[in-house]
Amino acid sequence: MVWRAAKNILPTNKRLYERGLTIDPICPQCGMEEETIAHVLLQCEETRRIWFASPVTLHVPVDTDLSFTDWISFVINKEEKSGIANVFNLIYALWKKRNTWVFDKKRVSIDETLRLADSWQNFCKKTPSVMRVVEEPIGSSQNAIVFIDAAHKPGVRAGFGCVVTDQEGLFLAAAIVIEPELMEPMLA
Ligand SMILES: [Zn+2]
Repeated sequence: MVWRAAKNILPTNKRLYERGLTIDPICPQCGMEEETIAHVLLQCEETRRIWFASPVTLHVPVDTDLSFTDWISFVINKEEKSGIANVFNLIYALWKKRNTWVFDKKRVSIDETLRLADSWQNFCKKTPSVMRVVEEPIGSSQNAIVFIDAAHKPGVRAGFGCVVTDQEGLFLAAAIVIEPELMEPMLA
């Protein structure tokens, strides 16, 4: 998702407007400015309050005129690796908060947004390397959502990863499997 944001292909109202898919480029959360990626993830009033309330310490401020692509490039170059994981988790939570408002008409509070980012951060702490399998008991969740993706590097290795969340996006479990012998992309 951060990759899509950095490539400027997240479907914000501004982007949909430029492509003729909506008549309103304005931010649906504050109604004050055009909804660019930088606006949703860095500059929108409540977004800024969430950044300031979060445990993330940044050397690159969020109240900036930089594009999101430039901002995230600075962050990746300047912040500690562990800090970058925090940043990515919060960005994900902010985008989910935005979508919950747009599609479900539900306000996600600052605390809930921070809790969501924190649940992903706890997962990152448990997985210092992507080269291992992680298994957690999922419990009796009836409505778990599974995100899955696979990758294949010809002649090198292939693998897949999946993340299970509850309906609110809180982390439940994940597994990452790398297969050095797997050479067929369809099998990945
Ligand atoms: Zn806004």
